Amino acid sequence: MEEKLIIKSERYNLKVFLIIIIIIGGLTSCILFANIDGVSRNAKWYDEWHETYLEHQNSGYHTTHSYDDCEDCRMIKAYPIKLLYLIDYAWELLFDETMLALIPFGVSILISIFAFVWLRSELIVTDKRVYGKATFGRRVDLPVDSVTAISTGILKGVGVGTSSGKINFKLIKNRDEIHSVISNLLLERQKDNKERTETQAVNFTNADEIKKYKELLENGTITQEEFDAKKKQLLGL
Ligand SMILES: [Zn+2]
Repeated sequence: MEEKLIIKSERYNLKVFLIIIIIIGGLTSCILFANIDGVSRNAKWYDEWHETYLEHQNSGYHTTHSYDDCEDCRMIKAYPIKLLYLIDYAWELLFDETMLALIPFGVSILISIFAFVWLRSELIVTDKRVYGKATFGRRVDLPVDSVTAISTGILKGVGVGTSSGKINFKLIKNRDEIHSVISNLLLERQKDNKERTETQAVNFTNADEIKKYKELLENGTITQEEFDAKKKQLLGL
């Protein structure tokens, strides 16, 4: 008989996740970075240079004096916009002294890689098997009958219980659907088992009855026809 797919896990979109992590990490770095007082100190300096520059422009100072001798005006000419100067300064600061500010950013990227490489799982349920990739890259292939329990866990996780332990799957987008599919399978199996046990019990009693009638036939209490009729009835023929 062919294997029938019941449900397959859906994965989270890696791109969206990474973008969110990068934004969070980047913002954290920016907040730390903005606190470095060097930036505000430089902003003040820029304002002072700009004042001198305006003065020199208004008084016509540079019609007689070279810009080479005027540090303030040279800076303003090199960076006509304050923000440009600050970005340039910050950029240098970043690579000279404050790589520390990049730590949250780096850590967030490492966490995201860890999460996606080691936790993201794949789970496929068919009418015969439960298989796929569990956390930490563990390959799993279980006959559906060996599954004894199903649970949910943190990080959109599903735990599949077997006689040899629980197998964890994480970051499964349709975790709740998978959980309900497997619990239904477990419930159905329980029902099937119960019915089978009941049928067996009935068969067993009927066999016992037939044995009794056989004894009655042998000691001549009932006739062959009576025995045959009873046997037919008990076997449901
Ligand atoms: Zn000047």
